[in-house]
Amino acid sequence: MIMQAIVQENSRNLNAHPYGTTPTTLTQCSRCILDLNDDPDLGLDKHGICHHCRAYDIQQKLYLKEDSEGEKLLREKVARIKESGQGKKYDCILGLSGGVDSSYVALIAKQHGLRPLCVHFDNGWNSEIAVRNIHNIVNTLGFDLETYVIDWEEFKDLQLAYLKASVIDIEVVTDHAIYSVIYRLALRHGINYVLSGQNIVTEGVLPSRWGWNIKDFVNIKAIHKAFGQKPLRSYPLLSRSMKKQIAKSGIETVEFLNWMPYRKAEAIQTLQHEVGWLNYGNKHHESIWTRFFQVYILPRKFGVDKRKAHYSNLICSGQMTKEQALSKIEKPAYDPALLEQDKKFVLKKLGLTEAEFEAMMAAPPRSHKDFDTEGSLFHYYPVLKPLRPLWEQYKRIMKKDKGLVQIFLLLTVSPVLSFPGTTILAVMQSV
Ligand SMILES: [Zn+2]
Repeated sequence: MIMQAIVQENSRNLNAHPYGTTPTTLTQCSRCILDLNDDPDLGLDKHGICHHCRAYDIQQKLYLKEDSEGEKLLREKVARIKESGQGKKYDCILGLSGGVDSSYVALIAKQHGLRPLCVHFDNGWNSEIAVRNIHNIVNTLGFDLETYVIDWEEFKDLQLAYLKASVIDIEVVTDHAIYSVIYRLALRHGINYVLSGQNIVTEGVLPSRWGWNIKDFVNIKAIHKAFGQKPLRSYPLLSRSMKKQIAKSGIETVEFLNWMPYRKAEAIQTLQHEVGWLNYGNKHHESIWTRFFQVYILPRKFGVDKRKAHYSNLICSGQMTKEQALSKIEKPAYDPALLEQDKKFVLKKLGLTEAEFEAMMAAPPRSHKDFDTEGSLFHYYPVLKPLRPLWEQYKRIMKKDKGLVQIFLLLTVSPVLSFPGTTILAVMQSV
């Protein structure tokens, strides 16, 4: 009886979500437009509000300062950046993609008298609009621009490796390189501050299964080892020693956009007026690859429509109503004729035939965790690698009948190791 009670109690803990209860009959958040198809782990509270909305509220409360407190934070930070840049050519560094967020940060930097080194990472997929935006910004604002052009053949091989691996976050190979290039340049120029376009009001909501840690160089190397054909000679991999060097340098990332009322529509208007900025449509569509990835590959292969997270974010920050979001989501994300044009361009640039690409699209998705990851037990203790097939088998069983396996472990492992059942469950949940 006592053991049964413990199992029941622990089963309840297992189903408890940090932000609410596991949904039963409800399938869509009552506030945003995310549902169980977007995130099978969607936790809805008693009001039907999902854990992403709750997490947004927490971020908003802790980090978003749209009032005089934000103004003060910004003023103080600008003063510190200027002070640290005395006697140097640049006092901060800023990655420019030609998109709204980073372009707007450039404008803020100019308005506050900062002297950033602007960096653009050219992975070969820039749209003409993105290139024109970048040049309009640096020319109008009088900033220096350093463009890092990646070895295309090497980068193409890496993108193809990710496509062959069937993992969801192919953008990691770009985001990792951008991060690495910016911090390497900051170290080289003795710059202490990185201005980031990241912000809560447009980027605070994203189901975790849609992405992967951009700093995970181990995962990149493992996927490349499994499917790559060319050695990674010049790709700016962010190794562990480089990460240590960055951490030691004390370089600070600054998110100005969280210290002001940042509204996308207004930002676009300002940019158009001030720097002749050109609008390219949806978020991240400044890159031909990214828009094809988001509009074609993600929905068709992974069942993910990134607009749902973006619009949900705008609902949370009061920039869009749920009705507007639902109406927009009904429409195609991109002109179907242009999408076909993009598809031809992408396939030709990647050297893929239609049949090869369709085979990749048809292959079942795999987890990034199917490959070595930074922080994984098998990476740090290669001696355990022979146990990996057993571990994979365990995960397969867990996926099929999680409850039974967990109850079995609770009844066996927990008493033997004298660990509380909740600890065992917490560890299993985190793997
Ligand atoms: Zn929600």
